[in-house]
Amino acid sequence: MNFRPRKRFGQHWLRSEKALSQIVTAAELSKGDRLLEIGPGTGILTRRLLPQIASLVSVEIDRDLCQRLVKSFGQKENFLLLQGDILELDLIAQLRQFPQFQPLNKVVANIPYNITGPILEKLLGTIAQPHQPAYEQMVLLMQKEVAERLVGQPGTKAYGALSVRVQYLAKCDWIADVPRTAFEPPPKVDSAIVRLSPYQIENPASNPRFLDQLVKLGFATRRKMLRNNLKSLLDSDRVSAILEQLGIEPQARAEELSLRQWINLSNLLETLI
Ligand code: SAH
Repeated sequence: MNFRPRKRFGQHWLRSEKALSQIVTAAELSKGDRLLEIGPGTGILTRRLLPQIASLVSVEIDRDLCQRLVKSFGQKENFLLLQGDILELDLIAQLRQFPQFQPLNKVVANIPYNITGPILEKLLGTIAQPHQPAYEQMVLLMQKEVAERLVGQPGTKAYGALSVRVQYLAKCDWIADVPRTAFEPPPKVDSAIVRLSPYQIENPASNPRFLDQLVKLGFATRRKMLRNNLKSLLDSDRVSAILEQLGIEPQARAEELSLRQWINLSNLLETLI
């Protein structure tokens, strides 16, 4: 723990035994698991993971921390440390020479909050291009406000484009709240542990790329009615008629549509424009 945290890398050391155990339990580890850990930091979580699984690949950006991690875990045969930026790193290329660490099936990470969105996209892909092959599951400790959006349900404040996009790709489970005091130094916001289990959605959108754009456009101005946000695609009277046809109020706002309704709307609109 005696390592001065660097702000620019979003370093906040988790020091709560409870939160650490909750992460490990949520990962439902088994002896055959090949894990990816993002941001091992001083290795507090790494230490718990290693004895329980087949192998662990940890990606850490901070060179000084990497040196320290090598000292602590370098002699473990099932541990591979990659120094670099998770967003830039070509994992597949890096792991080519380490077949014994593949295929990665799970991710565990206490992620730097400033890059939560890009990390989610890196791990899950997008509606138009899901990550292949999909991870079985990922347990992520993140900013609470983002966690709320991931599990957000229609009609709530937290439900938005991110909810639709992520829920299209994965089942999202809220595991636990983690207060800011669980970290040293405490961040400015509270956190939460979320588990994402990627799946193949039943009856996917006929044109996923279009759905992706539609959701973005639909949520562009939350206070507006959906039909007004979609004006650039089709005039609002026609959108109203289509919404009615799908059993949705013509005055509906984006946040009222369920994931299934978004898919239905996308499938129908796509044939008309
Ligand atoms: N998991 C540790 C540390 C979490 S803090 C713990 O629980 O104590 C976030 C960690 O992510 C830090 O170690 C930080 O150096 C690392 N990090 C920040 N940006 C990163 C990036 N782009 N790629 C990989 N690691 C990064």
